[in-house]
Amino acid sequence: MLVLMNVNATEEQTEAVCKRVEELGYRPHPLPGAMRCAIGITGNKGAVEADSLSQMAGVAEVIAVSKPYKLVSRDMKSEDTVVHFEGSEATVGGTELALMAGPCSVENRDQLFRAAEAVAKTGARFLRGGAFKPRTSPYAFQGMGEEGLALMAAAREAFGLLVVTEAIDHESLALVDQYADMIQIGARNMQNFALLKLAGRASKPVLLKRGMASTLDELLMAAEYIMSEGNYNVVLCERGIRTFTDHTRNTLDVSIVPAVKKLTHLPIIVDPSHAAGKRDKVAPLARAGVAVGADGLIVEVHCDPDKALSDGAQSLYPEQFAAMVNDVRGIAQIVGRTVYVPQHSEETADVVVTK
Ligand code: PEP
Ligand code: MN
Repeated sequence: MLVLMNVNATEEQTEAVCKRVEELGYRPHPLPGAMRCAIGITGNKGAVEADSLSQMAGVAEVIAVSKPYKLVSRDMKSEDTVVHFEGSEATVGGTELALMAGPCSVENRDQLFRAAEAVAKTGARFLRGGAFKPRTSPYAFQGMGEEGLALMAAAREAFGLLVVTEAIDHESLALVDQYADMIQIGARNMQNFALLKLAGRASKPVLLKRGMASTLDELLMAAEYIMSEGNYNVVLCERGIRTFTDHTRNTLDVSIVPAVKKLTHLPIIVDPSHAAGKRDKVAPLARAGVAVGADGLIVEVHCDPDKALSDGAQSLYPEQFAAMVNDVRGIAQIVGRTVYVPQHSEETADVVVTK
């Protein structure tokens, strides 16, 4: 159930509706839009007593939501959600493409700082890097843990980047919420519902990666878990799904971007690195992602990928990342998006797409 307020409804009227929803024993989720506020209602097992709400002052309409997801739905909010970050001009879902880049894993200070410096110079606003790594083998590098988060926070100060890093369980989520600017929930945890609920109670925006065998509905329901707990700053991420092909690590499902845009107001970014698995295919997939309407990219970059402790083969050298960003800038112009150019950058307006 969804309550649409009038365009000129007052804050008091919206609050009164929320209070009434609570009195009925449900949870109200007021989501202000550019034109009007919508109030999602969760916690109801059957139909909500619509009459008692539809007659309240300021209410335009009470709508039954037929889809299983409510808060993520475009019915709830027709305009795109733009996620903001405290103390930064960076956004996800606005006109500017969100560029997130950095190593797969935080390995040590020098490795992280070299990568961070390079990606900041190229126009990334976000530094990626895992301190808690969900690895296929228990014997593979598992991440530096809290020490890695502290290094990410230090890199934020040094290079003015926002930090996005993965949480894999309850304990790491509390730490990531404390150190980072954005909490990444990885493909392997997309349906870890307990973790999703916790992320829904966290204070930072969440980057939710699509599970490697998840449908669009499953991805949206995972986002709904987060939003149902009160965290409305959710960004989806397509990172490739498992198919029968073996020329790439995963198959980048570019078609999910327009499909997501149709059904939800939430932003979606593309991860060409985990889709490609090999660095020569990362830039073409990044270009495809932007062309199809993604709100940003998350890309693995390493200064010495042969020595990387995880995902070296798919990590770009900084020069390759810079060339990729330049290519993407050209495509961004065509689809009405911009790419941030840092001050003191040598970047020119010339666009040359490399092959
Ligand atoms: C990662 O971003 O390093 C990662 C583990 O990604 P995914 O969850 O998409 O596999
Ligand atoms: Mn990785």
